[in-house]
Amino acid sequence: MTHIYERLGIKPIINALGPATRVSGSIMPTEVADAMRDASQYCVDITSLQARASQIISGHTGAEAGYVTSGAAAGLLLGTAACVTGLDPTRMNRLPDTMGMKNRVVMARSHRNFYDHAVRSVGIELVEIGIADRYSGAGVRDAEPWEYAAAIDEHTAAVVYVAYEHTQPDLASVVAVAHEAGVPVIVDAAGQLPPASNLKRFIVEGADLVAYSGGKAIRGPQASGILCGRRDLIEAVALQHLDLDILWDQWNPPVELIDKRHLPGAPHHGIGRPCKVGKEEIVGLLTALDLFVQQDPAARRADWLTLMEQLLSAAGEIRGVELALVNDPKRSEIPVVTAQIDADVCGMSALDVIRRLQDGDPSIQANPTHVRAGGVAFGPMCLKEGEPEIVGRRLREVLSA
Ligand SMILES: *Cc1c(COP(=O)(O)O)cnc(C)c1O
Repeated sequence: MTHIYERLGIKPIINALGPATRVSGSIMPTEVADAMRDASQYCVDITSLQARASQIISGHTGAEAGYVTSGAAAGLLLGTAACVTGLDPTRMNRLPDTMGMKNRVVMARSHRNFYDHAVRSVGIELVEIGIADRYSGAGVRDAEPWEYAAAIDEHTAAVVYVAYEHTQPDLASVVAVAHEAGVPVIVDAAGQLPPASNLKRFIVEGADLVAYSGGKAIRGPQASGILCGRRDLIEAVALQHLDLDILWDQWNPPVELIDKRHLPGAPHHGIGRPCKVGKEEIVGLLTALDLFVQQDPAARRADWLTLMEQLLSAAGEIRGVELALVNDPKRSEIPVVTAQIDADVCGMSALDVIRRLQDGDPSIQANPTHVRAGGVAFGPMCLKEGEPEIVGRRLREVLSA
């Protein structure tokens, strides 16, 4: 039996890194792939499908409305555009020219990352605040709520907040100062699942829009994501994303997503058009989201733990390597195996190990985050049955060479 990658002459890799885009994200449950295949055999009105998606996402997140995007980064672009234009079609048509509009977005320096290209591409000016000297080691502080308040003025369209365990200040205090000034807060929560409770958490904490990846832990299509939040903002998102090449009098969008009475006329194709989402992605994401929410977190964790135990036992004892199973549910829902490499004993560095695993056959991807400190890590999220043993054996082989 050959599979598509064999026919294309592309060798699949063993992914012990996790659902990163450069290694093609996660592996979809077959139910999700089947739903996408099913979806691909019909044509539907895409606005009606997004309106239905809005209801379903709203049910899972507690937000007023939701939308399926082509990824969390697309969600940041669309959300920023919505905050800049509101429901004004003239402004939508002018983007990324934001002259005369609310065109500044406030972000803490410690939150900056290269996904914020998506925010900047809307034509806004990014206003950075705070000095995170807790990172440089020179101090203990990060951006503080009063610094957000000082940076917000009549030109501020939004605050963008990147949610991680270690993020400071806490979201609720940022929301408090932003809302005091009538400014919406967009949360980048791309990788903040699991736990599934985080689907509701940021909305509860007052976020106006929250962006998630669909291709990470949700295990939806790699090119999918969720944006959820305020109904008026999701309406502005839809208006700048959907194909609007239609006559006003013919156009009949579902009122729950787009209410024509809010508009003097329809905008044209918007700034979000390059972030197109197909029916297959929408259906795949919704299917994956349902499965993700239904799955018992304890069972998911137990499956992951088994994979990591298999990897660990296949690796066995390796001279110069301290292998450990990191399994602390309070710190992370995802158990991982770490290998601390003593370069003097092993005759190679952690980076050498990563590269040899990658360049071997089969190619194995491990997590290089702590490579400078001698650490190589392995995660369970994208491993298939039988693969942990291969990874463990390969690790032993590479280090005994
Ligand atoms: C993964 C990630 C993104 C991008 O998500 P996509 O769904 O791939 O667009 C954005 N922000 C953060 C913090 C991420 O981890």
